[in-house]
Amino acid sequence: MDGKRQRCEERSMQVEFLGGAGEIGRSAVLIDGSLLLDYGMASELPPQYPVDDVDPDAVVVSHGHLDHVGAVPALLSGTEQPTVHWTPPTRELALTLAEDTLKLHGGSPRCPFTENDVRRIGEVSATHGYREPFEAAGYEVTFYNAGHIPGSAHVLVSDGETRLLYTGDFHTDDQRLVPATSDRPDADAVICESTYSDVSHEDRGDVEASFVETLRTTVWQGGTVVVPAFAIGRTQEIMLVCAAHDIDCYVDGMGQRVTEQLRHHPAFLRDADAFRGAVSNARFVDGRDGQRRRIADQNAAVVTTSGCSETKIR
Ligand SMILES: [Zn+2]
Repeated sequence: MDGKRQRCEERSMQVEFLGGAGEIGRSAVLIDGSLLLDYGMASELPPQYPVDDVDPDAVVVSHGHLDHVGAVPALLSGTEQPTVHWTPPTRELALTLAEDTLKLHGGSPRCPFTENDVRRIGEVSATHGYREPFEAAGYEVTFYNAGHIPGSAHVLVSDGETRLLYTGDFHTDDQRLVPATSDRPDADAVICESTYSDVSHEDRGDVEASFVETLRTTVWQGGTVVVPAFAIGRTQEIMLVCAAHDIDCYVDGMGQRVTEQLRHHPAFLRDADAFRGAVSNARFVDGRDGQRRRIADQNAAVVTTSGCSETKIR
């Protein structure tokens, strides 16, 4: 029995949480000291990064949100550079986030990576679609649609004996932007995102209906509606809602660039035609010639990246 148990321990995976456990942000999970799942940052001030120095053989990223991918370039400053595995949209979103972080914190000790590190992403990147198994640090890894944002994935890690499922962020209801998670791969152990685990969400249809009603009423009464929304995912979801209900909207902030990037990945959208329609329904704000001031005087909806809304509308 002892022999059997020892074998079992040898084969089991050792899981270390370097961030994102008991907190929101800076998700990072290290498997057997060699395979890193996500490497995020928390965008509070000062920004928070995963604990400990790590030197993984490979990195697998679940999706392109700051709290899951924001610190990845910091892994590329040494001589040993791990391969970074992700879906094509996640790669592009990660680059946008890294450039934004450099813009905000570049050159300061708060920024854990440099422009050079960000440039190296292209050299170490390996992209994979859903349900296409690949090898990373000696493990077989497979992505499955997580229904959260375009390119978001559940990550299944197998060492041939044990199968670990890292869910990443996921949605079980359809959004207009992406279809709900549908895959439930078999696993021996699951690391599950639980930010909203004890929260019952209102029916999505009801929420959308009341949101649209508020927009319409405010605009009809001569108001301007500012909709603060995360640049990645939420901005495009609101654009789709506006287009579906024939409401004019302006899009400001980083969400514009993200929208343009997602147009290149129609296979990761729920309805590429609807997305194209939402893009042509929206007007993009470049801020030239007092454009923002003029928009603020109009009766319209303005979707803007949350952090920018206060300063830009002035
Ligand atoms: Zn997320």
